Amino acid sequence: MSAVQPVRGTHDLIGEEQRRHAHVIETARRITGTYGFEEWSTPIFEDTGVFARSLGDTSDVVSKEMYTFTDRGGESLTLRPEGTAAICRALVTNGLTQSLPQKVFYAGPMFRYERPQKGRYRQFHQIGAELIGPAEPLADAEAIAMGRDVLEALGLVDEVRLELNTLGDVASRTAWRDALVEYFSDFRDRLSEDSQVRLEKNPLRILDSKAPADQELVKDAPTLERYLNDESRRFWDELRKSLDAFGVAYQENPRIVRGLDYYSHTAFEFVTARLGAQGTVLAGGRYDGLVAEMGGPRTPAIGWAGGIERLAMMLDDTPAVVAPVVVIPAGDDAQIAAIAVLNRLRAAGVRAEMGYRGNMRKRMERANKVGASHVVILGEAEITNGTVQLRNLGTGGQIEIVQADLVGAIRSDRSGEAE
Ligand code: ATP
Ligand code: MG
Repeated sequence: MSAVQPVRGTHDLIGEEQRRHAHVIETARRITGTYGFEEWSTPIFEDTGVFARSLGDTSDVVSKEMYTFTDRGGESLTLRPEGTAAICRALVTNGLTQSLPQKVFYAGPMFRYERPQKGRYRQFHQIGAELIGPAEPLADAEAIAMGRDVLEALGLVDEVRLELNTLGDVASRTAWRDALVEYFSDFRDRLSEDSQVRLEKNPLRILDSKAPADQELVKDAPTLERYLNDESRRFWDELRKSLDAFGVAYQENPRIVRGLDYYSHTAFEFVTARLGAQGTVLAGGRYDGLVAEMGGPRTPAIGWAGGIERLAMMLDDTPAVVAPVVVIPAGDDAQIAAIAVLNRLRAAGVRAEMGYRGNMRKRMERANKVGASHVVILGEAEITNGTVQLRNLGTGGQIEIVQADLVGAIRSDRSGEAE
């Protein structure tokens, strides 16, 4: 039988890759915590309706990218392609729509049937944040500032630029939509096949098209600016003022529309030049209609999601593994005493390992191979004295110390190294 392969567009996270991945999540969890956000976990799959209804029938995600299947009970289920709709579903089904604001952080796998390439997978992972309840543009600014702070804590803030746009409210967008239809209809034959369909169903989506022919036409398409009504214009002005107050730099880009249908007012993307075509690392916007789609009351909200693979790829350094201490019993009779020392180290929070077999030379070789900072050796004499031999593999120095002092000695060696 030929070797089993991973599913196309999926990847294993092992060693350095897993550590980079975990670092992105831990950093985002810490930073969002400083903004008062709390982590939620929702199921990997939901009733298909959770996504089909909310993301809009014409979005690429719903029309082409969803992993939808019928389970043995005949239910149509979908592996979640994104987190926001599921968080809103959870808000409603857990009866939290009257306990606002909710400040939610999440991290986990998402699934989209896309053409796999660098930075684009079929199972990928996102960090995300949702600020549910506030309708003020100040909330949008704070959510964006938090995204900026996550990128800063990852050491990436100089590698990205923030592109900002407004999509206006429904009335403004409807007027703009009519203008877009008029404009693109004149060039119908030059539009990609996908965009000809979009022209009928959701012309805004053409602005998001990656087809070169479409992008050429998009350059001269009418922008929303002219169609913003007073309320939308006030929101947009207030947002930019608040971003200044948070010290967040941005560039206005009238071409930013979000990939999903539920956004209004604020839309933004943090973009890098370093990842080629897959340059958006963190993106989001305001979605005031989504909670109502899930059967809750009309509830304003703003949020973003970041692609963990793309962020992890950009990290300059891989977080290091903590060097272990390796315990070596000198002779079979020392094994039980060695296990007691191992327990003592672990109970004190020291990463400690012991091999299962082998003579002294073999065990020393292995300690070097796993990058141990110290080895702790004990034989008959040490057991009698209640001591161990502590060897620092960095300096080669070895001392005999009483077991009660072992953890302290290792710690003081290590803090010396750190200085
Ligand atoms: P793109 O324009 O790159 O397709 P999108 O607009 O579909 O992105 P969102 O739904 O806003 O993306 O998801 C937020 C972030 O998740 C993206 O900015 C990106 O970093 C990441 N992301 C989206 N799809 C994928 C994927 N298939 N593989 C890896 N990361 C992804
Ligand atoms: Mg996409």
